[in-house]
Amino acid sequence: MKVHHSFAAYDIPLQAMPNGNHQYSYVLGGDFFGLFETSIIKKAHIKVDLDIHRQGSRLDCYFRAQGTLQVGCARCLEPLDWPMQDNSHLVVQISDTDSENDSDEIVVLRSGDIVWNVAQFMYESIHLHYPLRAVCQEAALPCSSTDLWSDQNLLTFQTSDNAPTDPRWDTLKQVNFQ
Ligand SMILES: [Zn+2]
Repeated sequence: MKVHHSFAAYDIPLQAMPNGNHQYSYVLGGDFFGLFETSIIKKAHIKVDLDIHRQGSRLDCYFRAQGTLQVGCARCLEPLDWPMQDNSHLVVQISDTDSENDSDEIVVLRSGDIVWNVAQFMYESIHLHYPLRAVCQEAALPCSSTDLWSDQNLLTFQTSDNAPTDPRWDTLKQVNFQ
């Protein structure tokens, strides 16, 4: 039987949730990121543990994400598993008052909301860990590229202060341009 993946798998039942602690866990892979058309991440293996502490209309949510997401090495172009870890705290406030607004740390839901879907939040917080540029060595993986041009360039740049002065520059300094 083919498993049908949809956003419904990431619904947290709000109305049925009593006060106290509640635990959820997810394993996010390509199926999860495939739910988002614009996802940069195509393959991943990330475990998310979500602890929710509910006290009345306030829910304190602690997300702990850990795993790898697949990126292309900037040097050898091979896919590599990039390690990531993220801890986020989010407050969900159930309120029918108009003055309560969403912010980065507070999500406002209405008392009529039956579920809260956590897919978008997990998607966004994991994408923040997608590196602008990744190479195998940074993930402690062997790189199949033999092109060390960029490394040598960096080395030259870093040591240029201590490099012996080129005598041709000394000659130039003595030239009077007037
Ligand atoms: Zn590489």
